[in-house]
Amino acid sequence: MLTECDVGIVGGGVAGCGTAIALRNRRPLSIALIHKAEARLFPVGETLQPQARELAEKLGILEELRCTPHLPSNGVCSAWGDSTLAYNDYLFKASGKGWLLDRAAFDLSLLDKARRGGVHIVESSYSRLDSGADGRWLLSTRNGAVIRCRFVVDATGRRSAVADGLGVPRIRFDELHAVYALWEGRPEVFPHHTLVESVESGWCYAAALPAERFVTAYFTDKAQIKANRLTQPDRLLPLLSRAPHIGRLLSASSKLVGTRVVVADSSMLDFAGSEKGWLAVGDAASAYDPLSSLGIAKALGGSLAAAGAIDSWLGGESGEIDAYCRNIESGFDQYLAQRHHYYGLESRWKKDPFWKQRQDWIGIHPDWVLQRSGLRKKIPNRIVSSEVLEQILAAFGDEARRAHEAVRLVRGALQRRFSDYRLIQAMRYLVESGHLAVQASDGGVFGL
Ligand SMILES: Cc1cc2nc3c(=O)[nH]c(=O)nc-3n(C[C@H](O)[C@H](O)[C@H](O)COP(=O)(O)OP(=O)(O)OC[C@H]3O[C@@H](n4cnc5c(N)ncnc54)[C@H](O)[C@@H]3O)c2cc1C
Repeated sequence: MLTECDVGIVGGGVAGCGTAIALRNRRPLSIALIHKAEARLFPVGETLQPQARELAEKLGILEELRCTPHLPSNGVCSAWGDSTLAYNDYLFKASGKGWLLDRAAFDLSLLDKARRGGVHIVESSYSRLDSGADGRWLLSTRNGAVIRCRFVVDATGRRSAVADGLGVPRIRFDELHAVYALWEGRPEVFPHHTLVESVESGWCYAAALPAERFVTAYFTDKAQIKANRLTQPDRLLPLLSRAPHIGRLLSASSKLVGTRVVVADSSMLDFAGSEKGWLAVGDAASAYDPLSSLGIAKALGGSLAAAGAIDSWLGGESGEIDAYCRNIESGFDQYLAQRHHYYGLESRWKKDPFWKQRQDWIGIHPDWVLQRSGLRKKIPNRIVSSEVLEQILAAFGDEARRAHEAVRLVRGALQRRFSDYRLIQAMRYLVESGHLAVQASDGGVFGL
């Protein structure tokens, strides 16, 4: 079955539907959207901040927020840095209250809005992308459907399945994962606030949901979840109960419905699109730590930006996709600075690897003397792509170099510009992976 259209979108989440809706709002383009109905117990992410109202209005989806069974959100209360609760109430914000979403209903309402707006929904899983001889893309699905289109959008979330097929590296900055738990019962405390609490080796949050349910999420690094077998309720529950505030929510009457482990890393595509006629949007382009509570709003804002860039590209203008990619990258650099700031506010567990990794801004001491170790092991994409990590090593040659000189040298050697933060963290990563050896100026080896 072949569908001909202007734009093919893969992924029917907020970003995929948002981009389809925003494109149709601009002009009557033909759009096909591949949507895979997931057999999951529950989707994750429910707190929508009031600032999203303006984006929802621009997209024309305020009605979807009004009509579905969401709860109002009064704000966030957090115990971060010490165990005292601090309230960030939306009451005092011009945009009013936020939402505690029924996420499955919200995502479905956007899909329905796109369908009603004329978007052709293909119910299946995306399987591959090929470029046809006529310069068009061919998107294939697992049930044998083929979409021939001029422009392709990757909206598959952190999987970035389309970009992956095109060979674009996904750059990870950490290994954050969450053990998400769905509960039946109504939390007597904090019924309309999202509760955030830092704990040793991670942090957790809880939020009420419509229909007398609530969620808890425990965030830590992937290795910790595995080592402590946190997927097992008898290992997870004592840990949540020990958190001073979240523990209070888990009364005897709360019934655990189920748990899920989800990836929650900070990650981005090496480049989020190309003038050849594709781009990534939402989490597929760049994914933020859920501590930011920004993912859904970012997906809505990204949809508007993506639609503008695609519209220009289809109209024959060049440069808009490149500009879109640069905005994703600079937005991510700003986000990294904020992430560092928030994690830095917690000083109780400075030596804990989870906190230390997120709090170290200057990853290498300017006086360290660095030299290639000769290790040949392949380097995975981290902070920058493995190709750039190889280029950094090549820039060192066989010389031992002081760290502050090395940063200057590497910056000059690379064809692409990166923020100093990313360059320094990339060199730190090469030290940790054993590809760069560190010596003190007196010839001794620094303990890391
Ligand atoms: C634990 C956790 C808690 C969070 N809490 C919040 C929160 O409270 N507030 C907030 O704003 N954000 C939160 N987020 C982030 C937020 O959920 C995401 O940023 C948001 O869902 C991104 O939307 P998206 O459409 O880009 O991606 P997704 O929501 O991941 O949607 C991607 C879609 O692509 C589909 N897909 C993937 N592969 C294929 C394929 N091969 N074929 C067809 N379809 C495919 C998927 O089925 C899915 O429908 C949280 C994230 C996590 C991990």
